[in-house]
Amino acid sequence: MSEGTRNSGGEHVDAVVVGSGFGGSVAAYRLAEAGLSVVLLERGQPYPPGAFPRSPAEMGRAFWDPDAGLYGMFDVWSFKGCDSVVSAGLGGGSLIYANVLLRKDENWFVNDLPGGAHEPWPISRADLDPHYDAVERMIGAAPYPLDRVPYDNTPKTHAMQDAAAELGLQCTLPPLAVSFAERPGGEPGISLPIVDAGYGNIHGVPRRTCQLCGECDIGCNEGAKNSLDHNYLSAAEHHGADIRTCHEVKALRPRPGGGYEVDYVHHDVPRDPFAVSLKKRRRLPIRTITCDRLVLGAGTYGTTYLLLKSREAFPGLSDALGTRFSGNGDLLTFLLRATDRNRVRPLNASRGPVITTAIRLPDELDDVPGAGRGAYIQDGGYPGFTDWIVERYDVANDFERAVKFLWERFTDMFRGRPDTNLSKEISELIGDGALTVSSLPLLGMGRDTADGRLRLRDGMLSAEWTTETSRALFDRVRRTMRGIADVLGADYADNPMWFRKRIITVHPLGGAPMGAHPGEGVCDAFGEVFGFPGLYIADGAAMPGPVGPNPSLTIAAQADRLATRLLEHASAQGGAGGPAVTAPSATGAEPGGDSGSPDGAGDGPPREARHGSGGMTGTGSGRAGGAARNGSAAYGPVSGGHGVTGGSSAVASGRTSLWFTEEMKGFVTYGESDPRTGGRADGRRPLSFRLTITAEDTDRFVREPGHRARAEGWVDASGHGGRRRVEHGTFNLFVDPSGDADGEVDRRLMRYRLFYTDGEGRARTLSGTKNVLHGPPTRIWPDTSTLYVRLLDGHVDEEDEGRAEVVAAGVLHIRLTDFARQLTTFRTAGPDGAETLLNFGRFFAGELWEVYGPDLV
Ligand SMILES: Cc1cc2nc3c(=O)[nH]c(=O)nc-3n(C[C@H](O)[C@H](O)[C@H](O)COP(=O)(O)OP(=O)(O)OC[C@H]3O[C@@H](n4cnc5c(N)ncnc54)[C@H](O)[C@@H]3O)c2cc1C
Ligand code: SF4
Repeated sequence: MSEGTRNSGGEHVDAVVVGSGFGGSVAAYRLAEAGLSVVLLERGQPYPPGAFPRSPAEMGRAFWDPDAGLYGMFDVWSFKGCDSVVSAGLGGGSLIYANVLLRKDENWFVNDLPGGAHEPWPISRADLDPHYDAVERMIGAAPYPLDRVPYDNTPKTHAMQDAAAELGLQCTLPPLAVSFAERPGGEPGISLPIVDAGYGNIHGVPRRTCQLCGECDIGCNEGAKNSLDHNYLSAAEHHGADIRTCHEVKALRPRPGGGYEVDYVHHDVPRDPFAVSLKKRRRLPIRTITCDRLVLGAGTYGTTYLLLKSREAFPGLSDALGTRFSGNGDLLTFLLRATDRNRVRPLNASRGPVITTAIRLPDELDDVPGAGRGAYIQDGGYPGFTDWIVERYDVANDFERAVKFLWERFTDMFRGRPDTNLSKEISELIGDGALTVSSLPLLGMGRDTADGRLRLRDGMLSAEWTTETSRALFDRVRRTMRGIADVLGADYADNPMWFRKRIITVHPLGGAPMGAHPGEGVCDAFGEVFGFPGLYIADGAAMPGPVGPNPSLTIAAQADRLATRLLEHASAQGGAGGPAVTAPSATGAEPGGDSGSPDGAGDGPPREARHGSGGMTGTGSGRAGGAARNGSAAYGPVSGGHGVTGGSSAVASGRTSLWFTEEMKGFVTYGESDPRTGGRADGRRPLSFRLTITAEDTDRFVREPGHRARAEGWVDASGHGGRRRVEHGTFNLFVDPSGDADGEVDRRLMRYRLFYTDGEGRARTLSGTKNVLHGPPTRIWPDTSTLYVRLLDGHVDEEDEGRAEVVAAGVLHIRLTDFARQLTTFRTAGPDGAETLLNFGRFFAGELWEVYGPDLV
C-alpha cells in the first residue's frame, strides 16, 4: 500500500480505479490480475484488525469530514427525505456492513412502471450468476453455523425462525462474509487463528475467527469479517495493483487523444487520526494521473457527485445522471420487551454477528398474486458497548446512563444537521428497554420505487426522495414486523424518523444507472458510460433500481462482469496500442453478445474454448476446503487460468501457447552506463517491471534457437513518470551467445528488450541480460534471478544497441517470494496444455543441466 504522493509529472497507467468498495476492489483485482497497471485511489484510511475505534473519544471522531479535520470511516449524509450512512476506508462499505451476501431474486430484475407494468433491467440473473459464483468464492461466504455449539446459543436467531414459522414465512440463514473456521470448510471455533489465503494479507496483521461480539457494523477488530481488504484488495496488491489510501479524487475529464485525466489530493492524515488536531490545515495540492481506462467505484454518492461535478468536461453525458436513486426500501424498526408466557424472552441482540437470518416476503413477480413488492426482514444486532460505558462513566451496571450514553453517540452522528435533533425522541422511544436482553432491531429492505434524484446544489450533493411512492411496500414490511413482534410477545416500535417521513438508508443505489440506451441510462449493461469509451461505473450508482435484498453481492458481481468486458476490449485492442492483457475472463463468464449488450450483438472478441492448465504447482494445492478442491478461487485467487491473450489464435490454430508472469525490482543510476556500478551507486533510483511472457507457439519457442517470446506489462521507473506501459517487448530464454549451431555449452543468456515512453514523452528501451554461466549448481539461483539492465534513449533494436545512448544502468533481482508466485502463474491455452508444460519444464531443466551440470568428458 502506498502512502506516498507522486508528482503529477505525467504519471500514466492502464487503469485508475476510484474507491475500494465492492465495485472498486473487484475491478482493481480483476484488472491487476490480468496484467494491467492499476492504481486504486481510496479517500479513506486502512483499518487493520484491532484498529477500529471503540473508545468514546475515538468514536466521536470516527466520521468523514476532512474540512473539519475528520478522516474516520462513517460518512453520514442528510438529505431531504432520507439520511444515509456509507463508509470511507480501505474496503469501503465492507468495513461496516453486516456481511450478508444474498443474490438478487431471479424475478426481481425489473423496474416498475406506472399502471403496474414492468420493464426488464438491462441485465438478468442469468447474466450475473457466474459472477455471483466468482465473488462468493473469493470473499468466502457461509451461513451462520446455528447447528453447532456454541453458535446454537443465539436466541435472536431462534426467535426469528420461530416467528417466521408461526407466520408461515420463509426464513433462511443467509450466506455471511464471516470466517467462523480457520479455513473455508473447516470446523467452526471461536477466536481461532485464520489461515491466510495464498495472496497474503494487505495489512500483514493476523486475523481470528468470529467471537460473536455483534460489532460488525462498527468494524471487526478480530479480522473475522471477510471484508474486502482481506480478500480482493490483498489479492489486487499481490498482483501488482498500486493501492493508495487517503487519496481523494476531486475531478475527472477525458484526455485529449484518448483515455482520462483524474485530479486527486493526498490527505495529510495526522499520525493519530483520533487526536484533535489544532494544526491549521493547509490547502492540498491537486495532482493528476492519466489512464487508458477509468473505473468509478466511489459508491452511489461518490460516483454520482464526481460525475455531476465534472459534467462540463463530459459533453453529451446522459440526462439520466442523478436519476433512479433509491434507498433499497430500507426500514429500521425495533422489537422491545419480548415476553414468553409472561416471562422476559431473552433475544440477546448483541450476541452473534449483526445479522444471522433473512425472512423473505415474496413478490407478486414470483407468481404470488396480490403479494405486492418483495422484501426481506433481518434480525439486527448492536455491539456490546460495555467498554465505552466503563471508560466514560465508570458505572458498568448503571443501565439508564448507558442508554443515555449510547444515544449521545448515535445523535453525534447527526451533528451539524440544523433541522433535526432526535435525542429526545430516541430516548423516549428506547426508555429502559433498548439494551435489555429482550429487545431487537429489525431491518427491512425491498423493492421500493427508484424515483429519487441526486443533484448538485451550491456545489453540494442533494437528494430528493419520498417514502410516499413506496408506501405500499413500507406498510407491508411494517405489518409483517408487527406480526413478528406479536409472535414474540414484544412491543413494536417504528424508528422515530419514520414519523417525520424520513428513512435511514445504508443501501443507497442509483444516480448513474445502467440502461439500454443513453436516453435511459448513463452506462450500458457492462457499466461503460455511453459516449465515453473506457469510462466505467462499477458501484451501486449503476444499479437502475432497488436490488431488493442487501445489494453488495450484486454490485460486486456486476463489477466482475464489467471487468470481464473491459479486459476483452483491452485484449482486442492490444495490438493497436491498447494495454497488454493476459486474462480476458477470470470467471469463465462470457458476456459477449448477451442480453445486456447495447447493440444486442456484443462487441468483444468471438467466444472460444479456453483452458486453464492449473499451473506448475497445481491449482489450489495445499489448500483445504471444498471450493479449493473444485479448483476454484474460494480461498485464494486462481491466477488467470481461464483466458489468455494468445489463446484465441492459439486455440484456433491448434497451437498451444504458454505464459507466465514475472516481476523484478532493483535500482538504476541515471548517467551511468555500467550496470554493476549503477546498481550500487549512491544516487541510484528504484526501477521495477512486471511482465507477462507469452510464447504463442510453445513447440516453436522450444525448438527455435532464439527461444523468443512476447513480453507485456509495465516498467516503473521512479522519477521518470512512474509506471509506463510496455509498448513492445521481447524475451529470449537461454540464448546461446556464440550463435554456434552446436551451442556454447557453458553459457546462456536471458534477454529482455522493452520499449516504453517515459513521463516526459521520450522513447526508452530497457535492455536487460541475465548471464547464466557455467559453475556449481549453487550459482543457478543468483544467475537466473539477477538482471543487468541498461535504459537506452529511443526504441533500440538489438543490432543498434552498440550505437545507442545509455541513459541509466543498474541491476534488478527477482525476490524469492516473487519467484514462488511466478511459479503459480504458468498457464497454457490450446490443445496440449499439460504436455506443453511438461515439455517446457524439460527444456528449462535441460538447459540448466547443460550449463551447470557436471562435465562428463
Ligand atoms: C451499517 C451498514 C450495514 C450494511 N450491511 C450490508 C449487508 O449486510 N449486506 C450488503 O449487501 N450490504 C450491506 N450494506 C451496504 C453495502 O455496504 C453497500 O451496498 C456497498 O458497500 C456499496 O458498494 P459500492 O462499491 O457501491 O460503494 P462503497 O462500498 O461505499 O465504496 C465506495 C468507496 O469509495 C470511496 N470514495 C468515495 N468517494 C471517493 C473519492 N472522491 N475519491 C476516492 N475514494 C472515494 C469511499 O471511501 C469508499 O471506500 C451495509 C451498509 C452499512 C452502512
Ligand atoms: S460478530 Fe464480532 S467477531 Fe464476529 S464478525 Fe462481527 S465484529 Fe467480527
